[in-house]
Formats: sequence, C-alpha cells, structure tokens
Amino acid sequence: MFFSFSASLLFSQTNLHLSNPVAKNILKGNFDPSAYQPAFPVSNPNFIIQNINANVSADSLKSYLERLDDFETRNTGSDTLSASRGIGAARAYIHQKFAQFSNFQNGRLITSYFSFDQDICGMMRHKNVLGILPGSDTINKDIIIIEGHFDSRCETSCDTACAAHGMEDNGSGTALVIELARVMSFYSFKQTLVFMATTGEEQGLLGARAFADFLTQENISVEAVLNNDVIGGVICGQTSSAPSCPGKDLIDSTQVRLFSGGGYNSTNKCLTRFIKLQYLDELISTVNVPMLVTLMTSEDRTGRGGDHIPFRQNNIPAIRFTSAHEHGNAGVGPNYHDRQHTSDDILGVDTDNDNVLDSFYVDFNYLARNAVINGAAITALALGPEQPDYTITPVNGDLEIVVNDPYSYGTYKVGFRTTGWDFDTLMTFTGSSAILNPGLTGNAFVSLMAVDNNNIESLANKEQAIFKISIDENELSGNEFILLQNKPNPFDESTAIGFYVPTEKSKQAVIKITSLDGRVIKELETEVSKGMNEVIYEHGYGIEGNFVYSLYVDGALIESKKMTFIY
Ligand SMILES: [Zn+2]
Repeated sequence: MFFSFSASLLFSQTNLHLSNPVAKNILKGNFDPSAYQPAFPVSNPNFIIQNINANVSADSLKSYLERLDDFETRNTGSDTLSASRGIGAARAYIHQKFAQFSNFQNGRLITSYFSFDQDICGMMRHKNVLGILPGSDTINKDIIIIEGHFDSRCETSCDTACAAHGMEDNGSGTALVIELARVMSFYSFKQTLVFMATTGEEQGLLGARAFADFLTQENISVEAVLNNDVIGGVICGQTSSAPSCPGKDLIDSTQVRLFSGGGYNSTNKCLTRFIKLQYLDELISTVNVPMLVTLMTSEDRTGRGGDHIPFRQNNIPAIRFTSAHEHGNAGVGPNYHDRQHTSDDILGVDTDNDNVLDSFYVDFNYLARNAVINGAAITALALGPEQPDYTITPVNGDLEIVVNDPYSYGTYKVGFRTTGWDFDTLMTFTGSSAILNPGLTGNAFVSLMAVDNNNIESLANKEQAIFKISIDENELSGNEFILLQNKPNPFDESTAIGFYVPTEKSKQAVIKITSLDGRVIKELETEVSKGMNEVIYEHGYGIEGNFVYSLYVDGALIESKKMTFIY
C-alpha cells in the first residue's frame, strides 16, 4: 500500500502494451466465444460455487507462497534478469502457473504480460501478469477482474537490496488470485474473467493505474474489480492502520473486511453488498467455518490505499478485500516492530530447529476461505442475471415498484437499508410490479435485483432514497429538507451523513460536527443538488463518545442529530 494520491498527475506511463495480441482482442470482446469453450462446459453457478468451495486448497495456497518466498524480494525495481531472485523471477513464476493451468484446459486460459514504461525505482519497464478466461456470452462483453499486487517492499520503497518477502503484503493476495485461476478455469462463464497480479503498487498503485488507463483508452467495459491485498494474516500487530484491530497478538480468523469508496448509490458499495449477499445465499450454510463479511465505510484504511482506487477513479466499480487483523501500519522508526513493510513479513518461523517452518504468519485456511468468498461472487457476477431497470413510488405508506426488464426474469428481490451498509430487509416478489411494505419506519435506501432460475441475484447498481416510509402520503411530497441519521452509527473511523434537498434553488450546505458542549470539531462544506446528498465524515481515531452533527443550507440551520463514535 501507499499513501493515496493521483499517481497519473505525478508520473507518466507510456507504452501500455499486452504481450499477447490475442489477449487484447479478448478483453475488447473481439473473439469467437465457441473457440474457447471447454469440451464439456459446466456453467451452473450453484454447482460451480460449491466446487470452488470444495477445490480451493490451503495446501495449494501454501505452495504458491513458499515459491514466492524463494525470490527473496519482489520490489518493483529489483532484478529482472535473475531466475532465482527479484521481481522478474516472481512474475515469470506467476505467468508459468497461469500457463500450466491453461495447459490443463486446452489453452483456454489466455496468458499475457501487460507492460508499461515509467521510471519507478530507476527502472523503466514494468509488467503485470494476466490470465484471461474468455466468456461465452456474445452480447454482454463486460469483463470481471480479480487481482492482487505481487510486488513487495521494506521500510524504504525503492530498497531493492533488503529481503522483502512480502508474505502477508501481498503474497497472500497473489496466491489467492493464482488459486482462483486454477480452480475457476475448469468452468464456463458468460463473462470474461481476468486474473491479474500487478506490480508497482508499493510506489503508488502504478501497475493498477496503468491497466485502468489502458482499459479506459481501449473502451473495454468492466463490471467489477475485486482487489485482494493483505488477506491472509490473522494476528493483530502492536500497530495497525485505523480502523485497527483490538490489540497485540489477538487473532481473528473468521472475519474479512470489504473496503470501498462512496456512500449512497455508490457502485462500489453496491458491489460489496452483492459479494456479501452471494456468500450468505450460496455458501454460509455449507461451509465448515462461517465468515463474517464486514462492509467498511472508508475506501481504505486511514492514510493507506490500494489497487482498487485507480479503477474507481476511472469509474469502474472496484473494492478491496483485507484481513480483519493486520500486523503493522507500514510505519518506520525505532519503535516499529511489526512485520508489514519490513524484512520480517515472512511466511512463518521454525520453532523446533528442524529447518522446517512450523508456525505460520499466513493462515492458509483463512486465506482459502477468503478465496472462496471471492470465487462465489465472481461466479454469481459472471453467470447471474442482468440488472433490471425500475421505478419506485411511495403510495399510501407502501412502496410501488414497477420493473422494466427486457429479460423478464419474473422474480425480483428488493433490498432495504437504513442506517448501515448492509441490507436490513430483503423482500421477494414475482411478476413485473408489486406493492410492498418493508415494515420500516423513517428513511430507507432501496434497490432492486433480478433473480434468475438458479436463484442468483443481479448486481444492484442503482439505489433510490425513500423518505418517511409508512406515514401519510402527503408527507412524502418532499417539500422539506431532511437530515438523515448517519450510517453506520455507532461508527468507528468514518461515517456517512445523508440529507435530502427538495429544490434546485439551494446551492451550498455545511455539515457541522460539534462536541456535546458545542465545540466545533469539523465543518464539511459541500455543493448540493436536488434529491439525496451525502458526505463522508472521517473522525479518525480521536476522542470517543457522542457528537452532534448539524445541517446548514445556504446559511440556515435545518436540523441537528446525535452520533456516537466508538473505538
Ligand atoms: Zn499491499
């Protein structure tokens, strides 16, 4: 990870290039899908998801990590000529794994390097590694990307001499991508899947930046990017970036965090809800160790960033998977003893002096569980229904939903959420319209998903804000400003504050955060538009307790509400 800034403003990336010309045609949708189908295509999503769960292997993940460990460093500026040490050997290994999986599948998994020219750590040419599984659909050409950065670092980002094993950060995410390429390349998906290991992340998300810009320049349409970064460790360090884990050496092997940018109607947040919903629908009742999937408010940990950000900046829905517990905050200095971004980010230790590691810092079973969550979501995205259009209108305290769906799936799920990022309630109906009452009072965000014959939901990329459900219709006419309860609440780190603006006339709003005794902590100024508006408040890790937030529009106080910050 790196401090976030817009890398493209500071550096220039040129010569964006795929080494395999077939790869470019497939990404652009210029290919004959029948040429890339397996001999006996398996495309039932429920079956595939269960098989991913059965076949993702902790031992395979361990073997990839052991091999990545051998290269000693994968610094972006390290050796590209050696066969045994440095980033060149590491990327050749990842490429070779993709090629090996492709050989099992009659060459269906198309391998390619993606290179770009940029001065990073004194080196000019850099390469991401791709395995591309062509889709079967002749109409929907949107691709789906599953990725993790494979470069690593020590305290200084261009130190190519130190040992930078980078096992948690981010051998774990790299191994996850390799394993999903192995397991998923057996099956046939409607949409093209791209398994990618990126470079240059530690110097400013540069491999992801280059690829995101390539996709934009080439008009390649992307449905979703799932970035996996720091995804295999379960031990909390002495330090960890906020929102932090609870304390040194505490373990959490049953929770994963999904970071994403935006709030109300964010396509990134919609993607996190979709991922969680697929896990709850398709997997949680059959897995041995159920996982808690936590949807985070912020795009990343405080002051940190990841490869999902350049894609999001190019208007591609993109999210980040990160373990619940991190060993370090990438700090430097004499009092920093954690493993992240040091030579200590190793696979594990040999406690009985037999020269074999027996105590591991990456939990391979935890990593496997996270791979399965990714795999289920990708399967559902790549084989699920298309998103329908719809209108929703409050009628006498109920909600009337009318679906405009050229695919006529006939079954729909409506998600309601109030003060958090999760759905509070899901309601199902059949037909093309329905009158629903979710039994909620107050304000809600509503979105509609189509459900196909396999009981897979579509992605819901359009939320609508509905105010004052279950009260008199006359009060729904929207002639007043409404300040919503912040979400989540109580919150740690950051929270979203929404408000409704009834007219085009209002131009400027201020959200003022104050302590209970009236001391102003923060003023968030924002331009407003008619309808729902939202600002994200980053509290950081300051004082705990209750605070007041107030909405001022064009200088006039509208309303105040209370919110609670807990550590
Ligand atoms: Zn990382």
